[in-house]
Amino acid sequence: MFEGLSSSLQKALGKLRSKGKLTEEDVQAAMREVRLALLAADVNVKVVKQFVDRVRERAVGQDVQKSLTPGQQVVKIVHEELTELMGGSAARLNMAPKPPTVVMLVGLQGAGKTTTAAKLALSFRKHDHRPLLVAADVYRPAAITQLQVLGKQIDIPVFEMGTSVDPVRIAQQGIAEATRLGADVVIVDTAGRLHIDEQLMDELSRMQQAVTPNEVLLVVDAMTGQDAVHVAETFHEQLSITGVILTKLDGDTRGGAALTVRAVTGCPIKFTGMGEKIEPLEVFHPDRLASRILG
Ligand code: GDP
Repeated sequence: MFEGLSSSLQKALGKLRSKGKLTEEDVQAAMREVRLALLAADVNVKVVKQFVDRVRERAVGQDVQKSLTPGQQVVKIVHEELTELMGGSAARLNMAPKPPTVVMLVGLQGAGKTTTAAKLALSFRKHDHRPLLVAADVYRPAAITQLQVLGKQIDIPVFEMGTSVDPVRIAQQGIAEATRLGADVVIVDTAGRLHIDEQLMDELSRMQQAVTPNEVLLVVDAMTGQDAVHVAETFHEQLSITGVILTKLDGDTRGGAALTVRAVTGCPIKFTGMGEKIEPLEVFHPDRLASRILG
């Protein structure tokens, strides 16, 4: 994952690691390379600038820790700042004080929403919850069947009302069904479209008002880089999403979305999806990803 970014950052910082003493010029040179590495990974330009400025400021005026060489100290600062950029610590899910907890999954078509709904259901079950999946994407008839097939595969119930009922009503009925079944988490798979449009946002917003979800999680495709960040910005403006799920991190992604989403939207990445196979989602840990990137 993020091989390009990882190897260029390691190369830039590796030059510092070996030095016993660092001049300001050494730090400047390394920061120029860090900047290029981040830009090449499709990290937002403004975010790169702020990041590099912060690291440089801390690295030049660093309070020397006796146990580390100056080079190691810079690597540590980069690690800390990368972690901070991605949100610091892992974000928790908001659970309803009185079940069921309602999670709305939103996103554009193809981002991996339906697949992610099933993976999220597995994650909840892993933690001893009883999830119910609700098929509220009535515009893509195949979406309902897809969710049913996935539900059967992982043995999790799926509630649907066909394609001719208002999705808001489906979500409401789904919650009632959860109570009847004794399910304590409701995951609503909403409609996606190829592009953000007003009608989609209106529907999602109506649903949000009707069912007051505990989480509105936006599913975005990490492979789309800054487009994913833009999608997140727009969804957040209109729906105040509570978190992001970044999918397709198993693919050939450069890292731009993972490193930028939080800084630009203020919304935490809560989970990541890796692969087409239905397995529980991974909780997003900024520090672990920073460690992986820096090697
Ligand atoms: P939706 O339109 O947003 O509901 O998207 P789908 O769930 O139908 O997924 C679209 C395609 O992306 C499918 O072929 C999925 O198998 C694939 N997909 C979903 N998540 C991932 C992932 O994390 N990694 C990879 N490689 N493919 C994924």
